Amino acid sequence: MSTAEPGGRIELPPAALVVLIGAAGSGKSAFAARHLPPEAVISSDQLRARLGKDEADQNVNEVVFERLLHAVDDRLGAAWLTVVDATNTDWMRRSELIRSARRHGRPPVAIAFDLPLEICLARNRARARQVRPSLIRQQVDAVRRDLDRLDLEGFTSVWVLQSPDQVDRVTMAVDGGPVARASV
Ligand code: ATP
Ligand code: MG
Repeated sequence: MSTAEPGGRIELPPAALVVLIGAAGSGKSAFAARHLPPEAVISSDQLRARLGKDEADQNVNEVVFERLLHAVDDRLGAAWLTVVDATNTDWMRRSELIRSARRHGRPPVAIAFDLPLEICLARNRARARQVRPSLIRQQVDAVRRDLDRLDLEGFTSVWVLQSPDQVDRVTMAVDGGPVARASV
């Protein structure tokens, strides 16, 4: 497991499957927007907005994950960098994503946002789409509990970001070059 140092660099193999893991409000979508090409990012929120009432509609979770898995499978089959922007706190869902990567011979990489609960809650309060605080608490606990098992699940590398400072200062590169513009 790699804990990204502040100012450190996350190296992505080409055509990797990047699974972002973190509670609601931990900053996954902001991180993806900053570091990764938008066309590579498959977002459960966007799928939920398309398939349900809005991007907070939890009644369509199963169909959202099914679609997400299809989209992941298609991109990995075409050997394109693929990023899953969802909480990904459920190991069974992670295992399905890893299975898809394996099927296509692509390396699955985990980037876990193990940020303090208070930060996730404060960011959640400050934004338009609010998630129940009790759910965020469960997700933060689940992320922390599972950190040690991510490599056993089959991720070929695991990067853990544990503070806002680490998140803000880390850079990302694919196969030696930058993935996307490093500024927002
Ligand atoms: P969800 O799982 O609900 O989609 P998320 O992990 O994608 O949540 P974001 O939407 O990226 O979380 O961030 C939540 C809020 O926190 C947003 O309002 C965002 O602007 C803010 N935020 C995210 N990252 C940072 C950061 N590095 N510094 C300051 N604020 C941030
Ligand atoms: Mg998000």
